[in-house]
This record gives sequence, structure tokens and C-alpha cells, in this order.
Amino acid sequence: MKLSQRITQLTGGGSDGWEVFYRARRMIAEGHAITELTIGEHDVRTDPTILNAMEISARQGHTGYAMVPGTDLLRDTVAARIQARTGIPTSRNNVLITPGGQSALFAAHFAVCDAGDAGLFLDPYYATYPGTIRGAGATARSIQTTAEDAFQPRAEAIDAAAEGAVSLLINTPNNPTGVVYSRQTLDGIAEVCRKRDLWLISDEVYDTQVWDGEHISPRTLPGMADRTLVVGSMSKSHAMTGSRCGWVVGPEEVIAHLINLATHTTYGVPGFVQDAASFALNAGSELEQNIAAPFRRRRALAMRILETQNTVGLVPAQGAMYLMLDMRATGLSGEGFANALLDTHAIAVMPGESFGTAAAGHVRVAMTIDDDRFAAALRTICDFAAGLAERRAAE
Ligand code: PMP
Repeated sequence: MKLSQRITQLTGGGSDGWEVFYRARRMIAEGHAITELTIGEHDVRTDPTILNAMEISARQGHTGYAMVPGTDLLRDTVAARIQARTGIPTSRNNVLITPGGQSALFAAHFAVCDAGDAGLFLDPYYATYPGTIRGAGATARSIQTTAEDAFQPRAEAIDAAAEGAVSLLINTPNNPTGVVYSRQTLDGIAEVCRKRDLWLISDEVYDTQVWDGEHISPRTLPGMADRTLVVGSMSKSHAMTGSRCGWVVGPEEVIAHLINLATHTTYGVPGFVQDAASFALNAGSELEQNIAAPFRRRRALAMRILETQNTVGLVPAQGAMYLMLDMRATGLSGEGFANALLDTHAIAVMPGESFGTAAAGHVRVAMTIDDDRFAAALRTICDFAAGLAERRAAE
């Protein structure tokens, strides 16, 4: 039977640069002890106080259908949070609760892209981005950023790609690079969006994980609140990846249409999960700071280790739970280095090539194992790279 092009061409086909990841997973399944620095999942579980709120809600009977747009309590809580961060008036009518940030990314594109439109995104990118844009029926068009610009996008490059485009997807703090977009970068992006009449879809799921500089939501920039859809999530800020709870914040008209989409797709998010999220967001910033603390600590550890050598370069590690390491001095591609590292030292990292073409020659290291093992793994990576670079110089 024939299947739709939309589904068969969702992932674009061909090699996706994830072979090293799947090989590491196979080795683990076969019983090999692998140090896993691949995926962005916390090494702690959801806080017991949040689970308690979830249990109380469920036991009190919040296990039936919840309100499709989200509970009033969670929508109000998210609206207040976004308003406090941006200064832009925000009410529950600006908020749709979704099953995680991924669903919010899809909904946002579905709301603004028609078949044949181009949806812009920046390379390197979080793995699902092009498929999400294609899933909404649009053509996914990537724009390169460069290691030389510390992966801060250039407004001119976006402008040059904007013909026929209706949306631009950005992510700061960034996965995979760990870069936080500067005010100058965001001002440039906002200017292109206004000039080219683009929707800006702003993925801010790492907004509580900023180590250097400040997180600026583009929704705050002049003329942007009416054309920006903010994607947020409980996954990273509150270690609730499995609870699947996120949101889209945007103009009321867009949210009203997105409620129709939710009615015909997800039919909402479980009420007890939403109550747990409301509890977590109202629990004060200490809880989020505690969840971000291990990454802040490991990032500081990594800076100290990387300072002592000069083979491995570090892309400015300003936020999120990843480090992007420049391995080009070894002469290997990111994929070549990651494969050699897995075979020689049983350490699994993600090749930069898993995230497009712009981060070729780099590897992404997730800071998601305990400090001692993380520091040891990073030292091994540096020593291994130094050995490869020396051998290369001797050739
Ligand atoms: N955006 C980015 C940049 C991510 O890294 C992730 C998860 N790794 C998501 C969105 C989606 O997260 P979730 O669906 O768990 O909220």
C-alpha cells in the first residue's frame, strides 16, 4: 500500500550521522561497559516533591481527560513565568500546554507553514528540527553557522536564505553547541524577521541552564511579541523528560488555532502531570537551580581540564548540558574521532556531523554523568586527541 510522502520523507533518508550512537547502544546491550556522554538526559530523576504532587493529584482523581488547552492553573503559571522573564503582558490565552517541547515545536510549525513554504533552521541543529518542519508540510531549509563565529548566526546569512520562507527556528541556549545567543545576534535575527515578515519559533527549553551571559527571549525585542512563538518544556528545567509536558506561548489568535490542533491530535496532557508541573514551577527557583547545578559544576570542571592542553578546542560553553569540542587538530572528522574513541577507550560521544554539516570536525559531550567519571572521561578525550595530533604532526 502507498504511504504518504509526508511520512516516508519525514527524516530525509540517508545517513544521519547517528551510527556511532547506535553502535554504542548495541555495545551496551552486549554487556560492554561504555561511558555514555551522548544524550541530553539528567543523571538525576524527577524530584520526589514533584512526584508527590503528581501522586496527590492522581489520587484526588485528576486522571480523566484534562482541559485540552491545559489546566487554567498551569496556563496561568506559565503565563506568569513568561511575563516575569520578558516583561511582555502574557495571559493564559497566550499559552497552549503540549506533551513536551517536541510536540510544541511541531505545533508551532504546523500553525505557520503551508505546503511549499520554506521553514528556516540553523546548522548545527537539534536532530529533530528538519523532520519537524517537513512533518508540518514545509520544506526544511538550513542556514550554516560557523565555528569561527562561535556558532552565533549572522543576520545576513538568514536574510540571504529568506526568499520563500515563512518561519525561522532558533534555539538558545543551544543544543548541540552550548552557545547562548548574544543580544547583538538576537537583534539581528529580529530585524530580519521583521523585514522578511518571518515567524520566529524560539526554542527556549534550556533557559534555566545559562552559565555565562544572559538568556534573552526574542519575544522581548521590539515588534517581536506578535511574530514569536516560544517553545518551552519541563524536561530540562525540572528533570521531567518522561512526563512530557511543555508549551507554546504566542499571540492569542495562534493559540486559539493551536487548541483546535490539540483537540484533533493529542487531546491534551494528563491532568496529574500538569498539576505536578504547576507545583514544580511554583516551588521557587531553588529547585531549578539545584537541577542545573551539576551541569554548572561539570562545565567549570571541564574548563579547568581543557585549559591545561592545547589540542582540543572548546566552543564557548555558555549554557545547556553539552560541550562542543573542536577536534580538528587531530585530523579526524568528528565521526572518525568518535568511532576511534569508542573503540579505544569505550567512551561514547556524539559526532558534530550528527547535527548537520556546520559542526563537522567537532564532537558533542553531554555533561550527564557524575563529576569524577566525567572529569576522567574528559582527560582521556584530551590525551587521546593529543596523541592523535602528535602522530599526525610526525607523519
Ligand atoms: N529542543 C531541544 C533543543 C532539545 O534538546 C530537546 C530535547 N532534547 C527538545 C526541544 C524537546 O524536549 P522535550 O520534548 O522533552 O520537551
